[in-house]
Amino acid sequence: MTRDKNQKASLPSKIKPFQTPKGVHDILPYDHEYYTYIKKVVRHRLRQAGFKRISTPIFEYTNVFARSIGDATDIVEKEMYTFEDKKGRNLTLKPEGTAGVVRAYIEHGMKQLPQPVELYYIEPHFRYDRPQKGRYRQFWQLGFEIIGELDAALDAQVILLANKINEDLGIEKLFDIQLNTIGSLEDRKSYIQALKDYYYDKERSLCEHCKVRLQKNPLRLLDCKNEDCMILAELAPKMTDYLSKESLEYYEDVKSYLNELDIPFTENPKLVRGLDYYSNTVFEFWDAKEGAQNAIGGGGRYDGLIEKMGGLPTPAVGYAAGIERIIAHMKREKVRVPHKDNIHVFVAQLGKEAKKKCLKLIDEMREYGIRTIGALGKGSMRQQLKLADKFNVPYTLILGITEVREGTIIIRNMEKGTQEIVKFDQVIDELISKIGEKNLDKYSPGELLY
Ligand code: AMP
Repeated sequence: MTRDKNQKASLPSKIKPFQTPKGVHDILPYDHEYYTYIKKVVRHRLRQAGFKRISTPIFEYTNVFARSIGDATDIVEKEMYTFEDKKGRNLTLKPEGTAGVVRAYIEHGMKQLPQPVELYYIEPHFRYDRPQKGRYRQFWQLGFEIIGELDAALDAQVILLANKINEDLGIEKLFDIQLNTIGSLEDRKSYIQALKDYYYDKERSLCEHCKVRLQKNPLRLLDCKNEDCMILAELAPKMTDYLSKESLEYYEDVKSYLNELDIPFTENPKLVRGLDYYSNTVFEFWDAKEGAQNAIGGGGRYDGLIEKMGGLPTPAVGYAAGIERIIAHMKREKVRVPHKDNIHVFVAQLGKEAKKKCLKLIDEMREYGIRTIGALGKGSMRQQLKLADKFNVPYTLILGITEVREGTIIIRNMEKGTQEIVKFDQVIDELISKIGEKNLDKYSPGELLY
């Protein structure tokens, strides 16, 4: 069949529906129930422990991240969303939380506050990662930091809090806490030299990434997932042989505090974490089945970072976890999330007078904490009742011309299919007694809302 050359051009142009960019997604109402619940749990646990919430900007000057995370890390080399603004300033969407918090600590002179300063955040982050299960280009992290004090008990405290949050969310059994120490900066210098010496004549057997890592960030050779690299890493010098007495003691203290708290952990001498700023304690919460691939969070001590970013020498320790991965685990575990989205009452009306009365009634009911929706469009009574059925509400109010004339209103019990006529003025009291005071959704301005 020959095709008319002009056929394509003459077809009505079809506009492609818009879609989210690769690697990002909408958070639809059903998932928001999880986000809200997780935020509540995090807020509760951390507030109880004296932490205060902080939000840093979505974007910062690029060097805030480059300087802190490290030039030779995957994040800085490949994963940052960096752009110039109209005045040519170099900016980056935040790929992780600690750098911004540390920048804020220095910028706002928090060193003057009683130490340690304990801060937490729940924020979106951005990485130009290869999208796959549990790996997105925009993702949410919860994180918390204890800045201004050096003690192994604080490292244990951070791990304890992370574990408590997992417990509250019903997923703590799914994770294995991997623990290691990467020593002090000094320890690491001699260890890195030992690694370079060890790999000197083995470079040809390394994957392409590790060949570069050997020059730029040799510690990362230890956690490469390539099979040959893994075999070589197995025989590589061990960090523990290069630790100073202090670092070793510090590590022993962390472990003994964790034992005291009954928190099980696995020692993993190959755990180094992907970011440059860590020292001494590092840890990750690995999926017990899938391991590092599906870790939900990690953290460690970063005593050198504040000075590196221009502040006074200040020790610190912190943790961050990915909320999308937490949700995936909660769903896998079939953890049910309590939510308040169910509607109590549907209001159906017929006629102009009824509509007027309903507008006011709906507003009043909501003030009392009755979750109410009304069909205020032009649908017939049958259509409105069908809609009430779809919303799965326990009660429907029906106000027609007769009820308006007689000063009454009908309450229909949707489950039983029964109806009763009550005085219009008494309908709110009637509904409250049916729904129950404790189930009302009252807003009191004194209550913390987020
Ligand atoms: P990291 O500091 O890179 O170890 O990240 C801490 C946690 O954030 C990880 O364990 C993940 O749960 C989460 N996370 C990191 N990157 C991503 C991503 N691209 N998509 C979704 N979650 C992520």
